[in-house]
Amino acid sequence: MELTDPFGRKINYLRLSVTDRCNMRCVYCMPAEGIPLLGHHEVLSYEELLLIAETAVGMGVEKIRITGGEPLVRKGIVPFLARLADLPGLRQLVLTTNGVNLAAMAESLRDAGVQRLNISLDSLRPETFAQITRGGDLESVMTGIETAQQLGFPVKINVVVMRGINDEELLDFAALTLDRPVTVRFIEYMPAIKAANWESFVVPGETVLERIGERFDFQALEREGLAGPARMFRIAGAAGTFGVITSITGHFCDDCNRIRVTAAGRARSCLFSDVGTDLKPYLANDDRKGLEEALRSVVTCKPRRHHLAEAEQQYSAFAMAALGG
Ligand code: SAM
Repeated sequence: MELTDPFGRKINYLRLSVTDRCNMRCVYCMPAEGIPLLGHHEVLSYEELLLIAETAVGMGVEKIRITGGEPLVRKGIVPFLARLADLPGLRQLVLTTNGVNLAAMAESLRDAGVQRLNISLDSLRPETFAQITRGGDLESVMTGIETAQQLGFPVKINVVVMRGINDEELLDFAALTLDRPVTVRFIEYMPAIKAANWESFVVPGETVLERIGERFDFQALEREGLAGPARMFRIAGAAGTFGVITSITGHFCDDCNRIRVTAAGRARSCLFSDVGTDLKPYLANDDRKGLEEALRSVVTCKPRRHHLAEAEQQYSAFAMAALGG
């Protein structure tokens, strides 16, 4: 079975958030005062998450990314992942983490069947890292990355580029790919929490490429089948690769192949549209047909593109931790 939206995009990628809790407070993701957290009874149980995953896979989803909040802070995550990995038809089970708990958990994640890790890392300088994460410890994340790589995990590092905060480190991040088999992806800062002057923080992907090009020769790479919206490159002779995700300046929505489900069971087809469908009623009754129809309607309503670059764009501010980044 295949899921295709009205604009011909094949939807085969589900981002499933398992919690809105996080052990970091990144400035681009959350306001300083934090976010109102879901009550425990509001968060989907593992059984409910599994039913959503199973239904989505039955409808043509081939890749599931587990996210949050921070997925590695939810109790019982490893056995849940092992059950997901066993779903027939699921080709890729991947997970996004801030890396804090990775050193301790990487081995059990691998044994559970997680195939790849995306790790958020926005600075290689301890003070800047602590500033961006509001107190995070860079060393613990670097140890987590090392451990994951030693265990054979393919690792992608996600860098949210913010002008005046970490954009001086673009070359340092690009240089990480020279002798390590990592993928570094530079993500344009998005106005999730509607910070004042958000545009001033955005460093366009093209600028990132220009700056890296001043130091390194690189070549564009072919897009892989289940890849996300990154445009990928390799520096001549490098072990790893790098990419840009131009969420704001373009080349993004046309290739979008994803839907999301929040930890509270709301399915969304676009981060920047307030339209969402509550899946909980179908879960409570084990109504698989209803769930299938609800997921199909989410795909049918997927907007052609977001209009973030347009000043009049209306959407509610949100913390990525609440929506599942
Ligand atoms: N806790 C995990 C982590 O840190 O990777 C998973 C959740 S986090 C919300 C997922 C991703 O959302 C991160 O890679 C982060 O870079 C991205 N993100 C959050 N807010 C963003 C923003 N305003 N602009 C761009 N990316 C953002």
